[in-house]
Amino acid sequence: MNPNRQIIELLDSHGLRKTPIRREILKLFLEHDFALSAGDILSKITVQHDRVTIYRALTSFEEHGLLHRASKDGQGIKYALDTSHYPDKTDHKMHVHFVCDECHHTYCLDTIEIPEVKVSPGFSVNKVNYTLGGICKECNSDQ
Ligand SMILES: [Zn+2]
Ligand SMILES: [Zn+2]
Repeated sequence: MNPNRQIIELLDSHGLRKTPIRREILKLFLEHDFALSAGDILSKITVQHDRVTIYRALTSFEEHGLLHRASKDGQGIKYALDTSHYPDKTDHKMHVHFVCDECHHTYCLDTIEIPEVKVSPGFSVNKVNYTLGGICKECNSDQ
């Protein structure tokens, strides 16, 4: 799909206004296959925007289910695009995150099946967070 078309559809389907900053941030997420922090966006964005505007856009994307928190490190929270509304990715909500020790990028690994964990009687699980660490495909192919 044409990226501009995709951005407009994403904003429309989540009931978000199509402001230039929102379009630009979404474009960055579509161009990268790893999670991005507010700092990453600030350094990549072509138009000058203040931090607050970026944070506000990210918060509103998260509230509307467009982005999810993929990881957190010294740079802050890294967000990834939520693709649960894509027909070929039905269960994107439950997936593993992979943090690379080399480039520190965070990837959503949504092709791995998450094993069901049995908890002790009296406990109920409503949030699952699996993070794996290692070397990503990009860094592995550099050697
Ligand atoms: Zn890497
Ligand atoms: Zn993810």
